[in-house]
Amino acid sequence: MKTIIGNWKMNVGVRESVALARGVLYALRGKSVVPEVVICPSFIALSEVRKITAKSRIALGSQNSGFLETGALTGEISVRQLEELGVSHVILGHSERRQLLGETNEMIQKKLALAVKHQLIPILCVGETREEREQGKAKEVVIAQVKAMFAEKISFKKFPLFFAYEPIWAIGTGKAATPADAVEMHQVIRQTIKELVPSFSEKQVSILYGGSIDSKNAYAFLREQEVDGVLVGGASVKLSQMREIIDAASDALESTLSLT
Ligand code: PEP
Repeated sequence: MKTIIGNWKMNVGVRESVALARGVLYALRGKSVVPEVVICPSFIALSEVRKITAKSRIALGSQNSGFLETGALTGEISVRQLEELGVSHVILGHSERRQLLGETNEMIQKKLALAVKHQLIPILCVGETREEREQGKAKEVVIAQVKAMFAEKISFKKFPLFFAYEPIWAIGTGKAATPADAVEMHQVIRQTIKELVPSFSEKQVSILYGGSIDSKNAYAFLREQEVDGVLVGGASVKLSQMREIIDAASDALESTLSLT
């Protein structure tokens, strides 16, 4: 399977989110081979967008969740509240939250445990800075981030888990990594997870690439077997781009099917 996740950040309000969600739904209509699509509006739009995604092929995701199950954490949203809103996925540890809001691996690990407890599918973001890549430390940094997610024992059983490899230097810059760089890092992430949690089945963990994906470069990533999908920021709030990215994923899926 290929998964397309749209991270709408703070870029659209409620009305625009509803219109976008309708457009994405329309883009999937009539297609026989479709990717899994997850849209992540801001908190304020979740409940209105849910009215459109309910009983559709689109899943609803949150851009974050708090590290406490309930209680005093002003400005955050809890996994319980997300459950109530019908959210199925949650982005955790996005680099904007790590870098600009001081989110630590420990906080993200707590959020991961709560997400799994409440049956929200986690989308864990990891990635290195430009400086770390230039110093040859990219793999080391990403491996440490992945390891930190499993520092405390979590009972995943058969629950799915997404990792998004998002090199920080590629986010919002228009300078994506190369598909070859993504494949190399995905293999490292997959191998690290295999060693840490040998009980995970092959299909349980999906690894996506994120960082300046648009309609022009999406297919080059999606056709790679190692790339289970893409996490899209800026381009995901432009309906024409999103439509073409979905088409690229359908093409990639169709070409895999024709090989089997
Ligand atoms: C992101 O913020 O997760 C992201 C991938 O952004 P962009 O596609 O705009 O680089």
